[in-house]
Amino acid sequence: MKSILDKQDFSNLDKNEIIELLQLRGSDELNLFKKANKIRLRYRGDRVYLRGIIEYSNICKKNCLYCGIRSGNKNLTRYTIKDEEFYEAVNFAIKHRYGSIVIQSGENTSTAFIDKMTEYIKEIKRISIGKLGITLSLGEQSKETYQRWYEAGAHRYLLRIEESHPELYKKLHPQDDIHDFDKRYRCLVDLKEIGYQLGTGIMIGLPYQTIEHLADDLIFMKNLDIDMCGMGPYIEHPDTPLYKYKNNLLPIKERFSLTLKMIAILRLMMPDINIAATTAMQAIDPMGREKALQAGANVLMPNITPKKYRDEYLLYKNKPNIDKNPDDNICCIESRIRIAGFRIGYDEWGDSLHYFRNKKGI
Ligand code: SAH
Ligand code: SF4
Repeated sequence: MKSILDKQDFSNLDKNEIIELLQLRGSDELNLFKKANKIRLRYRGDRVYLRGIIEYSNICKKNCLYCGIRSGNKNLTRYTIKDEEFYEAVNFAIKHRYGSIVIQSGENTSTAFIDKMTEYIKEIKRISIGKLGITLSLGEQSKETYQRWYEAGAHRYLLRIEESHPELYKKLHPQDDIHDFDKRYRCLVDLKEIGYQLGTGIMIGLPYQTIEHLADDLIFMKNLDIDMCGMGPYIEHPDTPLYKYKNNLLPIKERFSLTLKMIAILRLMMPDINIAATTAMQAIDPMGREKALQAGANVLMPNITPKKYRDEYLLYKNKPNIDKNPDDNICCIESRIRIAGFRIGYDEWGDSLHYFRNKKGI
């Protein structure tokens, strides 16, 4: 019998075909991962690019109903990394030849925050002699702010749409002006217009979310013509309003396997983009990130946040702490990647080839 996996061209999968792929099980599911890995090897080679992630601050003005560091959660100590700690993390990334860093934070639109980030971006460029690539994941900001950070030297931005259906987005956020789907979407357009390599993504296994939603989410990313993607399973956090749905969610293993399939299908649909093997995968399965790499992902984001802050940046519960001391783990990362069948792209930015192809108008 002819299988959907026999298709020659996956670049224009329709919704029904995506749903069929999302429902594959057993050996068919494994064949989907193999196919995605083959496409990844053909278009992106066997290199895995490292982006050391610095979780700069857990102070957030937003109150997303799923997130552990939402402003309404009083059960945590708020922190902001100090300058010397920030630069220590940057130097760690340089020393270990990570090609890039990601600065991530709770959302803050104050002038002091914007100025501080501008200063950091310029300084990272200076001390790494332009070597470190810089990705920002600092939430929704004005177009002027995005422009300013771009001119300072940041060149990639990650802003997950979280869920691409406005009506479902509404159910996951408080009903007010600062949690507005259209506004978030506008930010994605602004970032693209400025010239950033654009990254977005969603959470998988959210309350109310169906397989049809997930298929549409993939089509949303394809239509937005993204350069990078970070998607991960939704993991409930006890100090959040959505926790009350914990008994109605897909089992955690299902969320994990659906995420692998989402990664694989996106790789088939968009062969030359960057796709991250996210930390949330590892929170569920100790080999989660490796499995994501083997299903089509090509970027890894080791946590280089100072150890003392890590327990306070709990977006979800069970964040893995195995890399609490980054120094102990660089060999570990290297051997894990090697065993999974890949090589680290040391000192490489590992930019999205998709971005440059588009720039050249090819
Ligand atoms: N404040 C910024 C960046 C930090 S949050 C922003 O929101 O864009 C980074 C990501 O963590 C979010 O985009 C969201 O997708 C993810 N996240 C938050 N809560 C989560 C949860 N309970 N399970 C899984 N991922 C979660
Ligand atoms: Fe803040 Fe981001 Fe968490 Fe929303 S997901 S509460 S914006 S840190």
